[in-house]
Amino acid sequence: MVSVAKITLERKQENRDVSGVASYWSARGEEVAQRLQRAAEGQNSLVACATAGLLARCAEERNIWTGRGLLNQEGVPFEGVGTLWQCGLRLCPSCCAAMARASRRKAREAISYLKTLLTNQTRWRWRFRSLVLTMPLMRGADVTDAIARINDGFRRLTNREFWKSRVVGGIKSVEFTVRIVGYHAHIHLLILSDFLPVDAQTEAKWQGYTKRHNLASGNLASELGHCLRAAGAVLDGDPNVAVYDVLRQGQRRHGDNTISLERALQETCKYLTKSESWDAIPDDQLVKIAEVERWPRMFELLGKARLSKREERNPSSLVHTHPLINGGVRAASWRELLETTDLEEWNALMTRRIDRAREFRRDQLAWRHPEALFKTLDGAEFGLRVKPPPLSVAAQDKEASNTA
Ligand SMILES: [Zn+2]
Repeated sequence: MVSVAKITLERKQENRDVSGVASYWSARGEEVAQRLQRAAEGQNSLVACATAGLLARCAEERNIWTGRGLLNQEGVPFEGVGTLWQCGLRLCPSCCAAMARASRRKAREAISYLKTLLTNQTRWRWRFRSLVLTMPLMRGADVTDAIARINDGFRRLTNREFWKSRVVGGIKSVEFTVRIVGYHAHIHLLILSDFLPVDAQTEAKWQGYTKRHNLASGNLASELGHCLRAAGAVLDGDPNVAVYDVLRQGQRRHGDNTISLERALQETCKYLTKSESWDAIPDDQLVKIAEVERWPRMFELLGKARLSKREERNPSSLVHTHPLINGGVRAASWRELLETTDLEEWNALMTRRIDRAREFRRDQLAWRHPEALFKTLDGAEFGLRVKPPPLSVAAQDKEASNTA
């Protein structure tokens, strides 16, 4: 499923127009690719070398398009930006943005579903909360190991009475920043829940409420710390927990501990997309990240929010190839190909594959948005399959069909 980054006309005013985004993706992607290429050669990593090649192709000017005059389902015009072919790598600025976009869409569906669970009986106890759980520095763990332990620890937490008696559902994402000394990780949560004591102090203060409503005792910081250690994480201390109440519709922001729903959604669905994130990663860590074969889950739906998922998609639609290209058989992944070919042959194979994918995507965009004109960063235009009739002609047609 390929999504299109939509920049509505209002948001353009924040100086984030589509051309700006497109140039940013291209320049940043190229930069990361070059850094990775150098580091990969230094460390003799074939996989990282190949990854650098894929990143560079994703960042190519002829791969990044902008579209003008697109209309959404409600007929509201927007400008779009995207890539014709997606490398899908965690180090890629445009693909990370695409992943964040996909998560935001799932998150919105989940939140709308959870809202339907608010009734007159539950409304006074349940509310949306946004939480940031900052993990203590995790020493000695590599990046996937750290994320896997965090996910495992968190899963243990959600199985405990403390959590189950309070939390209805929500969304969770893991954000991490790489430092020379180790990994800093945050868990972002947006949940619908009963009151949730974050530390020993609030736990003591709300003891009466906890008893009255038959909630399990405990507090989030110590419960999560316990679960993370049970998952094998070596921690310097307990995680730090910050809670923000999500404002109800029409409610004004008051104090530092409240947040709008939109802001909370954005926070929960951001990934490694900020430009500073790459600068902070040392070269040798770039190679490690590039070599990761199976990336741990960074975004998931929790509790009742999982019920918001639409029907499971047809499994064949999960195959990221075009059925006309290879008869519906899953093509070997670039990693699998790399095991059986040398780099030169691999490059030739990938080039053919990428070219076909780009052509397919160009046709798809032009077909879906016949009203729009697309242009890749290198200046090539496509689309505008159908020119909309001038208004006067359309009005005449309507009149003619009315009298007929
Ligand atoms: Zn990419």
